[in-house]
Amino acid sequence: MDLRTLFLAQTCALLSIAAILWVARGPADRHNGLRTWTLGVSAQGIAYMLLAAAGQLPPLLSAVLANAAGGLSVALFFVALRQFLGRPWHLPGLALMVGLVTLVAALSGSHYVASTIFNGFAYGLLQLLNARLLWRQPAPALQRIQRLVALFYLLMGLLLPLRALAMWLNAGSARYLDLPPGWQLPVYLFSFVFIIVTNLGFLHLCKARAEAEARAQALTDELTGLPNRRALDQALHEALERAARGSRAFAVMMVDVDHFKAINDRFGHHAGDHALQDFARRLSLDGRPGERVFRYGGEEFSLLLADTEAPQARQRAEQLRAQVALPPPELTRARSASFGLTHWRPGDSADALLGRADIALYRAKTLGRNRVETE
Ligand code: GH3
Ligand code: MG
Ligand code: MG
Repeated sequence: MDLRTLFLAQTCALLSIAAILWVARGPADRHNGLRTWTLGVSAQGIAYMLLAAAGQLPPLLSAVLANAAGGLSVALFFVALRQFLGRPWHLPGLALMVGLVTLVAALSGSHYVASTIFNGFAYGLLQLLNARLLWRQPAPALQRIQRLVALFYLLMGLLLPLRALAMWLNAGSARYLDLPPGWQLPVYLFSFVFIIVTNLGFLHLCKARAEAEARAQALTDELTGLPNRRALDQALHEALERAARGSRAFAVMMVDVDHFKAINDRFGHHAGDHALQDFARRLSLDGRPGERVFRYGGEEFSLLLADTEAPQARQRAEQLRAQVALPPPELTRARSASFGLTHWRPGDSADALLGRADIALYRAKTLGRNRVETE
């Protein structure tokens, strides 16, 4: 097989991936390692270009530059994966690896095999560490692709030292990047597949995580960190389906902070925001199993109490009312809230439930606030 053609093909693949990544770079890439990955792909493309050009440049120059770029790319991929997963890395160790790879290439000169053997062990170790990192504790949304990429790193981590060993044993017949027959084709074809899988895999990991974060953000209220109105709608529909299938009934509460506007008027919106955060914290302080708190909007919150019969729901509402009511000296805080409570009835819709809870809340307000009413 003609290695130069294969290296040229890898150069084209890597440099076009690098070009796409450079052109498509965005602010989000700063925190997920994609910028470091892009540098790694670029360095690897340059390394393969120099390997493909071996014989055209002075041997020492091409060997030293190709190995420096190759070592740098392996180090950059190693760092990018750790940046993506929020793990630390050891810069001096990586710098030493790149330095040694370059030094060995310079010392071995045109005797390429020596430096390929050395690199095989150094790179193999890093790929095994990458495999371990990716395999362990993947987030559920990333598990399948992260483990697939981990398997490829594992295979590469085993193949590189094995190839080095084979070259070592076969050192007598050392031509340019020669390998014992039978080894050459699988090793180089695998390295081509490896490039495709790790690049697509890493991009997919970035995409899947960004999507999961966007999904979570769309369901979360920014000020209080509670699930928002959209999350309530989803939770209500799920609860209605479960109740219709025959599981135990559930209760819905609407909670409205009393005289909240006075806090804004007297202390400003900033203090108002703090009061809302504080209120949300007090409302969620000792959540029961099956109990979920949402910010409905403004100074209104909702609670969903799964598997709860009417008397327990009423008891819980009274508990929460006492829990959120602060003694008078806390003047910068909302001091009490009114509660509108309702319970699931067969044939209910989300609108019907929220409508009844609202009626109950309105009654609690008109009857003097800081109280629980049921509809
Ligand atoms: P009531 O006891 O009848 O509920 O009186 P209230 O003052 O609590 O009710 P009202 O509806 O008159 O006022 C609610 C206020 O909540 C008005 C609005 O400016 C304020 N508000 C809503 N969302 C926010 C927010 O995110 N931050 C701040 N600081 N204020 C908010
Ligand atoms: Mg209100
Ligand atoms: Mg209010």
